[in-house]
Amino acid sequence: MTTCPTSASSACTRSGCGSSPSPNLVSAWCRADVSFDILLSPPDVGELEQEYVLASMRSGWVAPAGPDLNAFEVEMAERLGVAHAVGLSSGTAALHLALISWGVGPGDVVPVSTFTFAATVNAIRYVGAEPFYIDADPESGNMSPDLLARGLDQLRAEGSRVSAVIPVDLFGKCVDYDAIASLTTGAGARLLADSAESLGATYRGRAAGSFGAASVLSFNGNKIMTTSGGGMLLTDDERLASHVRKLSTQAREPVPHYEHTEVGYNYRLSNILAALGRAQLVRLDDMLKRRRNWRDRYHALFADQPGVRVLGGQDDTGDNCWLTPIVVDPDQSAWTTQDLGGAMTAARIETRPVWKPMHLQPVSKGWRGIIDGSSERVFDNGLTLPAGSVLTEEQFGRVEDVIRGVIGT
Ligand SMILES: *Cc1c(COP(=O)(O)O)cnc(C)c1O
Repeated sequence: MTTCPTSASSACTRSGCGSSPSPNLVSAWCRADVSFDILLSPPDVGELEQEYVLASMRSGWVAPAGPDLNAFEVEMAERLGVAHAVGLSSGTAALHLALISWGVGPGDVVPVSTFTFAATVNAIRYVGAEPFYIDADPESGNMSPDLLARGLDQLRAEGSRVSAVIPVDLFGKCVDYDAIASLTTGAGARLLADSAESLGATYRGRAAGSFGAASVLSFNGNKIMTTSGGGMLLTDDERLASHVRKLSTQAREPVPHYEHTEVGYNYRLSNILAALGRAQLVRLDDMLKRRRNWRDRYHALFADQPGVRVLGGQDDTGDNCWLTPIVVDPDQSAWTTQDLGGAMTAARIETRPVWKPMHLQPVSKGWRGIIDGSSERVFDNGLTLPAGSVLTEEQFGRVEDVIRGVIGT
């Protein structure tokens, strides 16, 4: 439980939260409803986005598909160096449709990062396949190639069918694609890269979103760029792209009447939201630069703190700096993430624990995997700090002041 500075007036009204928490005692989960002055990663939309969305509406293309959607796909594919992009209603939808199109289903095993947001694993469960958790490299938090190798050996030995592997570019740092792609190919599986958090990041000079048999992006409201809600599938495979596009529009056959030969979904990104995405894409490099600046300031603040590190390691040149998570070793540090989180909340600044590993989540524990405790240790001692591209210098100064107060510099 976290003590909040606000009283019963900010009682959480979210369902399942407990209707009337006692004053000054709102659980950490509820804090999203406490009003903060400074948010973790709010949307960064302004005049350019308004212009694009208005122009899209005025063009008359309010019906789902249209020229902004087509252009958004072309522009994103070009930026990332991928042949095909399919705009979808969410990153989750992109994960789901890739698995469906590949025929992944009951009887298939899908090794997946345990250290991720629930959406990654949910998609595997939507299709009835078995998630198989792979724990993290402790330095980066990303899927450990060594543990993946062990998992694939085990699955091969027992004769399981491994159809896809889903690593996650955690908090905007690319996984070790060389190692993970070659292990995946060696196992005869397809690599589905969950790059929902890593748009703008690179690995050995190559863009996140361009890896694997397909990659997935998210444009949810808190991601590095947003369409308010949306996602994208990226692939060089023409067949996959056109099948996913078809599945996302109720799998309608190309004939005049409504003809369907397979089960479809209503997962297409709308034209108006794509217009918002196009404006965000114009501003993406500027937004990345701003997040990078905050990251560098955090590095400077924590540089001399024993037992404190930024998750992802000192070499973060390829990261998009979506969020900045720190990990604090309680045996070495004079303060804890609870101390810092509490001080931030008291100053009306939002922070959040890192993702709770999926093998510990009530909804998804019980599946097998190769777990060595690395992600759990980061979860226990990790905290994500504000990193939004809309933060002003004045606001970041307040964040720095609170941190200095806690760490005593
Ligand atoms: C945000 C996110 C998703 C889901 O994206 P939505 O667009 O919200 O559906 C999937 N995976 C990861 C790792 C994410 O952070």
